[in-house]
Amino acid sequence: MIVHKFGGTSLGTAERIAAVAEIIAASRGDSPAVVVSALSGTTDRLIAAARAAALGDVAACQEARSWLGEKHHAVAETLLASHPECGELHALIEEHLDRLGRFIDSIAVLGELTARGHDAVASFGEKLSVAIVAATLRCRGVAAQALSATNLIVTNDQFGSAVPQMEATRQRIQEQVRPLVESGIVPIITGYVGATVDGITTTLGRSGSDFSAAIVAACLDCDELRIWTDVDGILTADPNVVPTARVLRELSYKEATRLARFGAEVLHPRTIGPIIERGIPLCILNSFNPEDEGTRIVEAPSTGRALWPAIVSATGLQLLRVQSNNGPWRLRSATAALARLDDAGIPVQMFSQSFSEQGINLVVSEQDAAHSARLLTQDSANSSPPSHSVYALDTIEQVAMVSVIGLPGDRVHGIASQAFAVLGKQGVRVVAVAQEAAEDSVTFCIPANDVGETVRFLHRELGLGNGKGSETKDAS
Ligand code: ADP
Ligand code: ASP
Ligand code: MG
Repeated sequence: MIVHKFGGTSLGTAERIAAVAEIIAASRGDSPAVVVSALSGTTDRLIAAARAAALGDVAACQEARSWLGEKHHAVAETLLASHPECGELHALIEEHLDRLGRFIDSIAVLGELTARGHDAVASFGEKLSVAIVAATLRCRGVAAQALSATNLIVTNDQFGSAVPQMEATRQRIQEQVRPLVESGIVPIITGYVGATVDGITTTLGRSGSDFSAAIVAACLDCDELRIWTDVDGILTADPNVVPTARVLRELSYKEATRLARFGAEVLHPRTIGPIIERGIPLCILNSFNPEDEGTRIVEAPSTGRALWPAIVSATGLQLLRVQSNNGPWRLRSATAALARLDDAGIPVQMFSQSFSEQGINLVVSEQDAAHSARLLTQDSANSSPPSHSVYALDTIEQVAMVSVIGLPGDRVHGIASQAFAVLGKQGVRVVAVAQEAAEDSVTFCIPANDVGETVRFLHRELGLGNGKGSETKDAS
């Protein structure tokens, strides 16, 4: 049994969905089960619509509704054309959009977007995509059934990053999914979502369909998990930034998790957890280039494999320089600032404090920056001690984080000092630095505009290129 997962990048257009259907059809002999994300761009639109509703921006909600309707109806029309199921699919899309509209209306009436409301709205993309993929397969002669993971993946009520309850989930997947696979029907399951034991919809976190697929794979005891995306696997850098990046053909579970945790978008950091216990191999494959062997991730990779350090970059970030407004800076000032953001559910991507500095550097996503600044500068006389709880923000700057990560078995030691030397040679402004205690990785915070050039320069100077094409080409 093979579990396949297709991300939004593989489901961008009718043509791409037809290619996905071909991959699934070709895998019929493997007893496949499939997990899919929303069509590309859909979840962003849904979340924007929910936020707009809370602010009473009716025009933005209507605009999102039209975008979603046009995109999904157009794809359905192209894929099913004159097939008898086409009308049913259009009706199902309308039904989902009407329900979505009712959720959005109630958020507008309340004037508030709760975490629960956010997840209810964000989950609609996958409801639409499973219906389209399953119908596409059926009209090509492959028996397929759309399934909602709200009936399969049982989670706690931590909306936005829910934690699955594996025993209950396993039982449901064994009862509801296995019989379909065994009778030759391909289940097409919604990624990203789950539900509490009371049936309240939750989500597993942005880009969480990889994690959903790993949960399904583990609960089915499948032979292999295949995550299909738009690049040839996990590379030494994002190939959209560095055209000469090399594919890391074999990685251990630990190495892949490490790269994902540093922000390599291609794999969600929670993916490996469910499969590691059962030793299920994971392949990252390219749906645009299905012949390529991709990256294979296993417990114990072969000893003679080729391995290089990787460079992971993250963009869309803001740096906040936080100082004490009244009185000396103490360790407690730093912990209280971090606690304020954590209590509001704002992830801090990186923070640093030097020996001499009277403050800390915090990196948060652009979307969270204004809210973080408000939380940090507002008066909070109730907190203890009050004299150290009021902060001044020195600078707010758009930044990118660039991490250079040595992988065990390769040039781990010295990788940080090599990276420092390269950045010195390039002359880029390094705004903040963070490093693990071991000398096997380093993260630089640099001005956002310099990220493409810096990653390409580091990649070339560290000798990571595949020798094909030019590393200096501006691909950003
Ligand atoms: P999907 O929609 O399939 O889940 P994602 O956008 O989440 O796809 O992940 C694929 C993207 O990850 C690629 O298009 C690439 O730009 C990015 N990426 C970032 N770092 C890496 C890396 N080291 N190797 C491969 N891809 C990477
Ligand atoms: N559709 C969800 C998102 O955009 C989940 C995913 O793509 O994996 O975050
Ligand atoms: Mg993804």
